[in-house]
Amino acid sequence: MTDLSLSGPVPDEAEDGVYLACIECGETFAPFAEPTYECAACGSLLEVRYDEYHGFDSFAGAGVWRYDAALPVDDGVSIDEGNTPLYEAPTIEDEVGVADLRIKHEGMNPTGSFKDRGMTVGVRVAERIGVGRLACASTGNTSAALSAYGARADKETLVLLPEGKVAAGKLAQASLHGATMLEVEGNFDDCLDIVSELADRGEVYLLNSLNPFRLEGQKTIGLEMLEQFRDQTGDLPDRIVLPVGNAGNTAALHKAFRELVEAGEIEESEVPTLTGVQAAGAAPLVEAVEEEADEVTRWAEVETRATAIRIGEPVNWPKALPAIRQTGGTAVAVTDDEITDAQRSLAEDGIGVEPASAASVAGLRKLRDAGEIGADEQVVCLTTGHLLKDPDAAAEAGTDPQTVENSVSAVLDAAGD
Ligand SMILES: *Cc1c(COP(=O)(O)O)cnc(C)c1O
Repeated sequence: MTDLSLSGPVPDEAEDGVYLACIECGETFAPFAEPTYECAACGSLLEVRYDEYHGFDSFAGAGVWRYDAALPVDDGVSIDEGNTPLYEAPTIEDEVGVADLRIKHEGMNPTGSFKDRGMTVGVRVAERIGVGRLACASTGNTSAALSAYGARADKETLVLLPEGKVAAGKLAQASLHGATMLEVEGNFDDCLDIVSELADRGEVYLLNSLNPFRLEGQKTIGLEMLEQFRDQTGDLPDRIVLPVGNAGNTAALHKAFRELVEAGEIEESEVPTLTGVQAAGAAPLVEAVEEEADEVTRWAEVETRATAIRIGEPVNWPKALPAIRQTGGTAVAVTDDEITDAQRSLAEDGIGVEPASAASVAGLRKLRDAGEIGADEQVVCLTTGHLLKDPDAAAEAGTDPQTVENSVSAVLDAAGD
């Protein structure tokens, strides 16, 4: 039985009030003594826990480190991550027909995705533990973020990428920031298997979202979003719709809200409903939710234009399934064409995102059409990465330039009335 209860005695291993706990068997571990990714007793996922949980009064400043009271270390390897905009999206709000729609655009982070929030915390923890080489498997954005934060921390970084399936902008970032980039002849899940093995052998420190410290940084998406939504509307959102790859954000947002409940800041009934969206060609979590299964089964073959969520086994599913179920949420699959349509709709509201991000809006549209999301709901869609991450997908979704003769009249003619 998964136990996500935050209250309980603080174990002796805690350092500065911080410890790791297994979400299945409850076993606890020291946080910074050595690299620890999974429960040594039962192999399940770990979660960072604290001696004390905090409400909004404890937070000051801006960005991820505004929330330092809720984080395992006091400061990070930082390039000013977080403090991303919460946009209105009037065209989509009208067309979809919900009471309120905001877009939390995590593409506005320093390297263009939410992964920065995890890395500012995770790379600092790596320094504290005293590890050498940092590594990740990545569909692209994790490698871009890790290479930038690794460079900032003056650490060697190794990134494993699925060959031929990483968008151009992300490759360029990892390359310029100086990561050792290896393209594996396999998919993301294969890359993660290999890098996990390297981590087990002590060769590298793993900074995938299996790493519970990374999710602490990503938790600040949820904290920041609630504060912004309340500032803008006076209310809390009813529902959050987000793309799901490894389901790290699904787990991290749920943790943010559980901690606010534990701190007495919000009521259990005020926790927003978490609604996950996957691409139809990579939808193992959706399958488990639809079949009311206790486990997620890996899809050996995955395919989607939304390469950031081209993942056959979301490693955080043991956290994400309870997150969705306990908040009364659901999960839905959308086709690549639905994703591209949503990417165009966001663009019409001036918001540029990469395909995986648009999955959130595509999912909202689909569930609203099906009547599963109500017209009275206040919704936030999470957009996870910037348009420029995948320039090829953007160009394909948009229009082609026209070549004209070098003259004013030719330009006027071609531009039309
Ligand atoms: C990493 C990533 C995702 C997947 O997020 P999870 O937390 O692993 O579910 C979605 N969109 C983009 C753009 C990403 O980079």
